[in-house]
Amino acid sequence: MAPKAATELKRESRAVTRLIEAGSMAECSVCEKVLKFRARQRDFQVICNVYEDGNWVRVEHFHDECYVEADEPFGPPAEMTPRRRG
Ligand SMILES: [Zn+2]
Repeated sequence: MAPKAATELKRESRAVTRLIEAGSMAECSVCEKVLKFRARQRDFQVICNVYEDGNWVRVEHFHDECYVEADEPFGPPAEMTPRRRG
C-alpha cells in the first residue's frame, strides 16, 4: 500500500466570511443584489469556492445574512480573522 500524498486533500466547497471591500462588484447568489461596500458600515460577505467532483468550478458570493437564510449551502463559513461582530 503506497502512502497517500499529503497534498491529496479532499477538495470540497468551502465558505469563508470576509468584509465587503471597496470596489466590490460581486452579486449575492441569493438575492442577486450587488454586495455594496459602505464606508461607515462593516458589512460581511460569505465567499464560497465551489468544487464539483474535486474540481474548482466557481466562486459564489453572498450577504452573510442571505447565506444563513439559504441554510448555509456550502457549510458553515470559516472566519479568517476572528473578531467580534457589532
Ligand atoms: Zn443577498
